[in-house]
Parts: sequence; structure tokens; C-alpha cells
Amino acid sequence: MNAAVVTRFRHPLELRQLPVPTPGPGQVLVRVRACGVCHTDLHAVEGDWPDKPSLPRVPGHEAVGEVVQLGPGVDYLSIGDRVGVPWLHWACGTCEQCLSGWETLCNQQLRSGYDVDGGFAEYLVAYGRFATRLPDGLDYIAAAPLICAGLTVYKGLMMADADPGDWVVISGIGGLGHLAVQYGRAMGFQVVAVDIDDAKLNLAARLGATMTINVRNTDPVGYLQRQIGGAHGALVTAVSPPAFGQAVGMMRPGGTVVLNGLPPGDFPLSIYDMVMRAITLRGSIVGTRYDLGRALHLAAQEKIAATVQTARLQDINEVMEHMQTSALPGRTVLELG
Ligand SMILES: [Zn+2]
Ligand SMILES: [Zn+2]
Repeated sequence: MNAAVVTRFRHPLELRQLPVPTPGPGQVLVRVRACGVCHTDLHAVEGDWPDKPSLPRVPGHEAVGEVVQLGPGVDYLSIGDRVGVPWLHWACGTCEQCLSGWETLCNQQLRSGYDVDGGFAEYLVAYGRFATRLPDGLDYIAAAPLICAGLTVYKGLMMADADPGDWVVISGIGGLGHLAVQYGRAMGFQVVAVDIDDAKLNLAARLGATMTINVRNTDPVGYLQRQIGGAHGALVTAVSPPAFGQAVGMMRPGGTVVLNGLPPGDFPLSIYDMVMRAITLRGSIVGTRYDLGRALHLAAQEKIAATVQTARLQDINEVMEHMQTSALPGRTVLELG
């Protein structure tokens, strides 16, 4: 099978012919039809994070396709099922985190395209119980960006603890943020889109944002406090550290700021402000299988869709280069036959 493989950090991926893998106990073989390209894949290729993937490694954790072979003991999926294979490739199922509904925090977890091979290939193996069925009415290209980006913002918005009608800030209208605007609307929030780029803010308005703020010419904290007394919640998908402090300032008393973006660095936090205004600040990383099922069904029902450009597997290095040098308006999805 054709696969794109990381063989050395900070080098182009190698296009290789690999043997089609054999599913072991509990595993299924998935014929990959499409796989989204996420910023985390870039970090994997660059070896940016403290725990680096072992090499060689096939990246990709937004794979969608159909089950073509079952390993021994698979009791949940059938041949022909359309599935997505997310970042959370496997979790132990017995630790405190797994048992309490936080399998995404399992210490023993395996991550697709990072600890095990992912979807930048014509086939991959997945654990049957960790592959999520795709709802009817969601085609492969539309589904792929939801497997990580859609899931991540869906869960992040749930963690904002906001109610329908509440004001929720989406800071950063990129690959994650433009999906977050749509999920926020589908959850009944009044969305405030914040960015530094008018084209992205116009996109957010078209996708249903009630208010847009360009930080280049408007102080978002003062403006939002004057206009609505601050928002109830915020989801920060931006990749610039100052956006995180601004989101805290944009909250009304008792508000909740959820961190999704992962730029390197820190941001200052006023202890007095956090205490006196009882602000909650929390990180959020991807989502569970339960969350993914909910996020996919909500997308199918509410027509939530990423702005997508497709590319071929053999173009992966140009896609990666483009991601590094320019903020893509949406998501790139590799189309694999
Ligand atoms: Zn991702
Ligand atoms: Zn566990």
C-alpha cells in the first residue's frame, strides 16, 4: 500500500510502499478513503513536543474509511461499516480516568499517527471498540475534519458550561475556530468571533456569528465589557499567547475560558481578577468516543461542515509546507481513492 512516512524529524515525509497491516485481536483493517491533515501532524513530523513519536511513523488522526477485515474477537463492527479513527486510538478501560468518563486522559493511551500508524496510508488497523461509526448523510470528505477538529471544538464548547442563549467567544477563526462557530450556533449560543483577519471574521459572520471583533483595530476586552457586560464563556483556538489573556478579560463574572489552541509559551494571569470575578480557566483535549458520536451526529443534523480543500497523498509535503507558512482558511483533506 502507499503510505506517507516520517523517517526523520524536520525532514519531508517519505512516500513508501508498505505491506497492508494485519488486524490483531480486537482490531479491524480499515481501507482509508480520506484523512484530514491536522496541526498536530505537523508537530509529529517536526518532533516539536517533549514526548516525540517513535520513527518510522505514518501520521494522520482524522482517518475515515470502511472496515474491510476483522481480527479475532471483534464484536462491535462489521465488514463494510463506515468508521472514523480518531487521535485516541486506544485506552486501557480500567484506570480511574477511563472509568470516570475521561478516557482521553488515560495514562496508557495510544494515539493514532503518533504512538501507532495513522491515516496517511491506504489502509490502517484500528481497535474495533475505538473506531466510531459515521452517521448516514456524512460523506468521507466532510466527515474527516470532524474526527479531530470538529470533536475538539465540540468538547471544548461543552466544557464552557454555557447554556442556550449565552454569549460565547470563539477566539481564532482558523481550522478549529470556523468549526467552533458552527457548533456554537448549533448549541444555541450567541457567538462572538474574535480574530485579526477581516476575511476570517467575514467567514465567521456568514457561518452565524452574532458579533465579530478585529483585535487589530478594537480592544476586545473593553468593547465586549461595554457592549454586553462580558461573555459567559470562551473557547480559545488561537495560536497566539496574548489571545488567552484577552479571553479571560472578555468574561463576565463567573465566566469560563476553555483552552484549545496549543501555541508554545505562557500568558499572564491576574490572581485578583480570577478570584474576585470567579473565573474558571480549563484546558480541553480532543474528546471521548461518546463525544465523537455526538459531534458527528450534530454535524450531520445541523449541516456543520469545514471549509475543505482536497489533496492527494503524494502531495503531503506541499500540504505540510503550506500549513507552516500560511494560515489555511479551512482544513486540507487527503483523498485516498
Ligand atoms: Zn488533530
Ligand atoms: Zn485508562
